[in-house]
Amino acid sequence: DAKAQGGNRSCRFDADMAERSGERRRLREELQGVVERGELVLHFQPQLSLHSGHIVGVEALVRWNHPQQGMLLPGDFIPLAEECGSIVAIDSWVLREACRQMQAWREAGLPPIRMAVNFSARQFRQRALRETVADALAAHAADPRCLEIEITEGAMMQDMTAAIRVTAQLKELGVRLSLDDFGTGYSSLAYLSRFPIDVVKIDQSFIRDIVTNPANAAIVQATVAMSQKLGKVVIAEGVETEEQLQFLRRSDCDEVQGFRFSPAVPADEIARMLREGARLDLSAPLAQDARE
Ligand code: C2E
Ligand code: MG
Ligand code: MG
Ligand code: MG
Repeated sequence: DAKAQGGNRSCRFDADMAERSGERRRLREELQGVVERGELVLHFQPQLSLHSGHIVGVEALVRWNHPQQGMLLPGDFIPLAEECGSIVAIDSWVLREACRQMQAWREAGLPPIRMAVNFSARQFRQRALRETVADALAAHAADPRCLEIEITEGAMMQDMTAAIRVTAQLKELGVRLSLDDFGTGYSSLAYLSRFPIDVVKIDQSFIRDIVTNPANAAIVQATVAMSQKLGKVVIAEGVETEEQLQFLRRSDCDEVQGFRFSPAVPADEIARMLREGARLDLSAPLAQDARE
């Protein structure tokens, strides 16, 4: 009967909850030595210019090669790592490994490209952040102008005074700064001018239905126009279809990143793409929408 079913359901629900919280606790414990055990891996997602079609950069995206559970994506462990603080060690490892990889590609004779890394709010608030970044660059003789640090809009707006100070310190090192997931936080376009931001990354939630949702289309076009007037480069993330790509070309967006061209892939895949000159096909005329 209904009551017994309800009882079963809630019982199974509790068991699921317990199992999941147990799993979370285990993962949180295992996160402690994850850097020392060498279980982190970087994959890289190409960023392409809508002006030339070439790969102009990559974003380093961390994965956890878990001995039992296989390759875990950031969504499975970054929030846990942020809770327990191990995110600082993870982000610092990612930074060093990204600098090492950037130089390895250079030494292999590949054309120079930008390397973007993600910083969590906690990493961004680190007292020794400036030294951490300077040391990572120096350790691999990496060009600071090729390193880009992505900070989410949310992290940036948590503490504006600190953000202004930290971004200024990072700019002194010569690195590029990028505002990630733009449009998802509480910031307005007006805030853009307050920070020494070089790049604005429009969040994929705006790109997803850009072709069918006039409001999001308008937001994207306004963001591109305003960012460019402020002298910033605009990247659209999560570009999956040819229609989205063409819309972004017509909107004068600078760069794209997304499954339309490639997901995040291992370093040797990026090397192969660069060697083979893989690029976006921009030969199609920039057709104005027939309905316009
Ligand atoms: P993000 O920085 O906004 O990175 C973009 C995410 O969108 C990546 O997921 C990427 O694989 C995914 N993506 C790219 N193109 C497409 C597309 O066309 N369609 C769809 N549906 N998804 C696309 P991923 O690798 O799972 O990373 C998720 C988030 O985890 C990142 O979002 C970033 O906030 C965080 N993260 C990744 N690596 C690091 C890291 O080293 N440190 C920190 N603190 N956070 C990281
Ligand atoms: Mg990012
Ligand atoms: Mg993003
Ligand atoms: Mg995102």
